[in-house]
Amino acid sequence: MAHSLAMSYSQMGVRRSLLTLVRVNQKQGFDCPGCAWPEGDHRSPAEFCENGAKAVAEEATLRRVTGEFFAEHTVSELAGRSDYWLGQQGRLTEPMYKPAGSDHYEPVAWDEAFSIIARELRALESPDEALFYTSGRTSNEAAFLYQLLVRRFGTNNLPDCSNMCHESSGSALTQTLGIGKGTVSLDDLHKADLVFVVGQNPGTNHPRMLSALEKAKRNGARIVAVNPLPEAGLLRFKNPQKASGVAGRGTKLADRFLQIRLNGDMALFQALSKLMLEAEDANPGSVIDHEFVETHTHGFHDFEKNVRELEWADVEEATGLPRAAVEETVQDVLGAKSVIVCWAMGLTQHKNSVATIREVVNFLLLRGNVGRPGAGVCPVRGHSNVQGDRTMGIYEKPSAAFLDALRDEFGFEPPRRHGADAVESIRALRDGHAKVFVAMGGNFVSATPDTAVTEAAMRRARLTVQVSTKLNRSHAVCGEEALILPTLGRTERDGDRFVTVEDSMGMVHASRGRLAPASPDLLSEVAIVSRLAMRLFEQDGPSGIPWERFEADHDAVRDRIERVVPGFEDFNARVRRPGGFALPNAPRDERRFPTDTGRANFTANDLEVLRLAPGRLLLQTVRSHDQYNTTIYGMGDRYRGVHNGRRVVFVNPDDLAERGIADGELVDLVSEWPDGERTAEAFRVIAYSTARGCCAAYFPETNVLVPLDSTADTSNTPTSKSVVVRLERHAAATG
Ligand code: SF4
Repeated sequence: MAHSLAMSYSQMGVRRSLLTLVRVNQKQGFDCPGCAWPEGDHRSPAEFCENGAKAVAEEATLRRVTGEFFAEHTVSELAGRSDYWLGQQGRLTEPMYKPAGSDHYEPVAWDEAFSIIARELRALESPDEALFYTSGRTSNEAAFLYQLLVRRFGTNNLPDCSNMCHESSGSALTQTLGIGKGTVSLDDLHKADLVFVVGQNPGTNHPRMLSALEKAKRNGARIVAVNPLPEAGLLRFKNPQKASGVAGRGTKLADRFLQIRLNGDMALFQALSKLMLEAEDANPGSVIDHEFVETHTHGFHDFEKNVRELEWADVEEATGLPRAAVEETVQDVLGAKSVIVCWAMGLTQHKNSVATIREVVNFLLLRGNVGRPGAGVCPVRGHSNVQGDRTMGIYEKPSAAFLDALRDEFGFEPPRRHGADAVESIRALRDGHAKVFVAMGGNFVSATPDTAVTEAAMRRARLTVQVSTKLNRSHAVCGEEALILPTLGRTERDGDRFVTVEDSMGMVHASRGRLAPASPDLLSEVAIVSRLAMRLFEQDGPSGIPWERFEADHDAVRDRIERVVPGFEDFNARVRRPGGFALPNAPRDERRFPTDTGRANFTANDLEVLRLAPGRLLLQTVRSHDQYNTTIYGMGDRYRGVHNGRRVVFVNPDDLAERGIADGELVDLVSEWPDGERTAEAFRVIAYSTARGCCAAYFPETNVLVPLDSTADTSNTPTSKSVVVRLERHAAATG
């Protein structure tokens, strides 16, 4: 708590901090702009975690970036600044424009800004030459209107941050269960007998999940942590809201820690399923839920054949775990009636991620661990409304049903050709196929892979537009012409209007900002989209889309959402109930699986053991504890013992000894790809307990190492969790 308050006071001062923090995640308050962890029905007076407080403080900061700031700093100078420095400058206060050929942003009137964008969009030969990116902070109302504008304009180029994070989850779960989301509620987590937390660091990225795990433990659950890194929060949780957490030793969370090798998760879950089948052979009817398998699933025999043929040598090599550890873990499984598997980027950012997540589903289907209390899949979303944005239609591959509903509601024929996702958008900018890039929030150039390629691609754009609350790198790495459109934050009031968001478990609820806006020149996201639409389509005459009304009355937007998006019946009434409402979820609510077979699909997935050339390591990019996505709150990472530095690489001491590299030495990280090598220079080595052959370093600093074309099969998500690198002594160090 001390860290949260210190951070808040430094940004907001004492009074504003206390007034603001008491409203975070409260039923009549605003939704935390951090991750998407749900709130329970009961709200504590301090319903936030340390990183939630930091996210709020960063947004509600009293620091300001004014026109004078931009007069003082050239764009090229800003491009040389760190993400941390840029973020610490404060809130944007007025629209800014960088004309072509100029190295300075200058103030511009909103009206003029919309004219510039409309002019550039109308000048395009095809609507597909424009890209419309969405970050997961965008509210449901703004997201729905944004996709409406983009499709009315004539393209499905709607890349979003989900493309880089849980796209693999969406692909695998849609194929196997018929819904691209998790199937558990917070209550299920409290009721589970066994919880796997895989490739996730909740202590930093979803901190209040630890309270839920602590409650599950009190209810008798066992927890298995699967991760190459021994993440502090998962091993022992000192709950800042409990005396035992503040003064005591806290709660031991993980009963079992499997320090798995990067990309070893498919092998682990295949091996667990194999052992369960063998236990069933030994004692028929004691392990497999045959009634569920026969009634609700498809494809069991291909799956069974596949895992029975699994070789233990491959399992041990792929996981880096001894067979005995897997055999002990299956005893946890056999001892549990209800099992939940939670995961984050550690599962989704690999070439075989979609197949790995399908294997997790196989493992759960065997004992019917889907669609009953305490059981199911739980991909934990990292951005407060990333799931909501997708539900609102922010997707480059929209379903025909969604487009039909949009057509019927708004009377125009939306484009049917699939659009570009995040990686395809970078290629389109790089190759000159895209000329205008519009971002609703986020920090695209720092969030994406292959930094050198991405930055060069962005600079090729004719116009870039960033709707933002704070200064970031995507303002400095911009197109020939560039616009910055400052918007309201979650903490700020927008008259008496409220917005809605959807959390990781499908709960839709209201968010009401209370603070006075950081500047009188800010517009809400909804207002920005509505006014741009009015300018862009004014030449087309009346369109029957009441953009002006939408800006003034968000209930009118929700009325349209209700008619276009399934599950939002009676939206305006239900979302006004304290805590909001749960969206329907067929697998969870009815054990109904709207897949291509109409059943939950078992799948047979080929295990490919990732074998590296001698001297190579597998790198995963991670967040520090003082970071949220690309927002850097501070230079520390106290849970990993790092203070005041970000260019560090965590390496297993035995791997260092093997390479004759000492703890503390400076090295360059070099990644290898068919199109050449990429280097991230001058990282201090930290001897650290990582799985053998694996290392870890922070993004965005190491995004430069992730090749643009190194993506997951099917989901096209960058493979930021398994980058092949070698360590080279840093030239300066060798003098
Ligand atoms: S757990 Fe996530 S949503 Fe909750 S307060 Fe922390 S950062 Fe915010």
